[in-house]
Amino acid sequence: MVHNEKILSALEFAATKHKGQFRKGSYQTPFISHPIRVAAILAENGEGDSESLLIAAILHDVIEDTETTANEIRTLFGETVCNLVLECTDNKKLPGWEQKQEQVNYAPKASVAAKKVKLADKICNIMDIREDPPSGWSVERKLAYLTWSEAVFQGLKGVNPALDKLFEKELTKAKQTLVQSTRV
Ligand code: ZN
Repeated sequence: MVHNEKILSALEFAATKHKGQFRKGSYQTPFISHPIRVAAILAENGEGDSESLLIAAILHDVIEDTETTANEIRTLFGETVCNLVLECTDNKKLPGWEQKQEQVNYAPKASVAAKKVKLADKICNIMDIREDPPSGWSVERKLAYLTWSEAVFQGLKGVNPALDKLFEKELTKAKQTLVQSTRV
């Protein structure tokens, strides 16, 4: 059962928290587009009835990328959402490559709900690599990102066949686009 007012207040909360932040691509897309897309991917792939999942998707980057605390989320959106957001939060104290390795190691141990959010997040980032990649990334860096995403995917897949299929489709499309870009 989904209560629209809760979804909307999560959107409002995330939009306020991510205010002034942008995606890394050249279009200067406001950051909030990313969590909206992650939630939409879940809703469009069979998860539209799970309120806590959609809210966690909307909030999945607020602890990692803003000053938001777990307590704030627990108070406003409850324990289930809070735990899910925490599961989706990288340990920013670690250097970048260690964070990446930790994601690979942790993926198979994540809860089913967290696997879904993480998978939709990866799908969204792969779409961005093709549509509006981070400015200044070389083809090699983009390919390395795709290879790493695939390694994380090995630990995430198996909880929603539609999401698995979409991941594979988007990964193939992104690889093709990169290969084509090296031919011109
Ligand atoms: Zn994200």
